[in-house]
Amino acid sequence: MSTSGPEVGSSSESPFAIAQTQFEVAADRLRLNPSVRAVLRQPRRELTVHFPVEMDDGTVTVFTGHRVQHSLHRGPAKGGIRYHPDVTLDEVKALAMWMTWKCSVVRIPYGGAKGAVICNPKEMSLRELERMTRRYATEMAILLGPDSDIPAPDLNTNAQTMAWIMDTISMHQGYSVPGVVTGKPIAIGGSEGRQDATGRGLVYCVQEAAKALKLDLRGSRVAIQGFGNVGEAAARFLGEAGAKVVAIGDSEGTVYRADGIDLALARRQRQETGSIVGTPRTERIARDALFEVDCDILVPAAIEGQITARNAHQIRAKLIAEGANGPTTPEADTILRERGVTIIPDILCNAGGVTVSYFEWVQDREAFFWTLEEINARLRRIMTRAFDDTMHMSREHEVDLRTAAYMLAVGRVAEATLTRGIYP
Ligand code: NAD
Repeated sequence: MSTSGPEVGSSSESPFAIAQTQFEVAADRLRLNPSVRAVLRQPRRELTVHFPVEMDDGTVTVFTGHRVQHSLHRGPAKGGIRYHPDVTLDEVKALAMWMTWKCSVVRIPYGGAKGAVICNPKEMSLRELERMTRRYATEMAILLGPDSDIPAPDLNTNAQTMAWIMDTISMHQGYSVPGVVTGKPIAIGGSEGRQDATGRGLVYCVQEAAKALKLDLRGSRVAIQGFGNVGEAAARFLGEAGAKVVAIGDSEGTVYRADGIDLALARRQRQETGSIVGTPRTERIARDALFEVDCDILVPAAIEGQITARNAHQIRAKLIAEGANGPTTPEADTILRERGVTIIPDILCNAGGVTVSYFEWVQDREAFFWTLEEINARLRRIMTRAFDDTMHMSREHEVDLRTAAYMLAVGRVAEATLTRGIYP
C-alpha cells in the first residue's frame, strides 16, 4: 500500500512550515499550476484582536484572539476555536490549512479555518469564560456567519462555548442564527451523533483498511492514546467490532491488560478519578510503553507530535489510525512508511467530526432534524467513499495514504480555485 511518500522537513519546524511543506509535496506530484500553488500556500485572511474582559475581581485582562481563514473556494470557512495559553498564530494558520484539506477529502462544501484565544481556561471561572467568549465572538463577528465562517469546539471549548457564540451573534442580528456554529447543544439546534462522530468515523476507516490489509478485526489487539471524546468513542466502537483494547494511555499514565481492558470499568475510573489509571483488572505500565505494546492497531487520539523518530521503530502495530490532528512527526512518518506500517492520515481518519458538523449545519438551515440512524448511515457512506477514493489514489500513484489524501484534497481545492478564477 505504501511505496513512496512525502520527504517533509524536520518536525522542529513551525506547524505552518510543516503544513506548507506537506502541501508542496502534493502540489509537486499534481504538477499544480504555479499561480494556484501561490494562492493556496498562504491563508486567505488572518484577523488578530486584542480585547478587554472584566474579571470576577473587577480587574481587566486584555486577551489576544486569532481567526484564520485558509481557503473559501469550496464554500464557507469551517474550523474549531481553541483556548490555550501556548497557542500561536502560526499554529492557527497550520490548523486552518489542514481544515481545508480535511473538508476536501470528505467532499463537504467548506473551506478551512481555525480560531484561538490565548488564555488559560483552567484558571478562569465560568462567568469569565462566558464574558471572554462573547467578546471574542463580537470581535470576530465581521467574519462569522452561516454563509461565511462557522466555528466549532476544539481544545478547551465545548458545546456551551458554541451556545454563547450562537447567542451573541443572534443578539446582534435580532433573531436566532443556529447555523453560525456547530457542536451546539441539541436544545438549540445541535445534531444527534455529533459527540461520537469522530470516533465513529475513525472506526469506519479502520474497517475499510482492515479489509485491504486482510486483518480480521475480531480478536485484533488495539492500543489507544487518549481516552477523551475521540479515544473513548474509538475504543467503544472497535470493541463493538470485536477488537480487544489491550492498552490505553491518557495524560496521567498508561494501563495494560493482555486479555483486553473492560471499557466500562475504564469509563467509570475516568469518571470517578479523571483518569483511566487504576482501572480494575489492569496493570500500570510506563507511559511510553504504550507505543511498544504488542498490538495490531494503534490509535493516537490525544495531542500532536506523539509518534516520533524516538518511538517509531518500537511500534508493533500494522495499522495506525490517526484520531488526533498531527500525531505523527514527519521523521516518524518516513520511518513507519519504510517499515511497511499503514497510516490512515488525520485529514481522512478524524474527518467524521467535521462531517457531522456539516450535517448539523444542513439541518439548521432546513430547520428539519434527522434521526441518529440517518446520521450514522450518511456518515458511513461519506467516510467509506473518502477512504476508497484515497486508496484508489494511493494505488494509482504508488504513494502512501497520507500523500494520496493530500493529493485528492489539494487537487479538488485547486480545481475549485482555477474554475472560479481570479477576482477582479
Ligand atoms: P479530549 O480533551 O476529549 O481528550 C484528550 C485525551 O488525551 C484525554 O484522555 C487526555 O488525558 C489525553 N492526553 C492529553 N495529553 C496527553 C499526553 N501528553 N499523553 C497522553 N495522553 C494525553 O480531546 P478530543 O476531543 O478527544 O481530541 C483528541 C484529539 O483529536 C485532538 O488532537 C483533536 O484535535 C483531535 N480531533 C478531535 C475531534 C473531535 O471531534 N473531538 C475531531 C477531529 C480531531
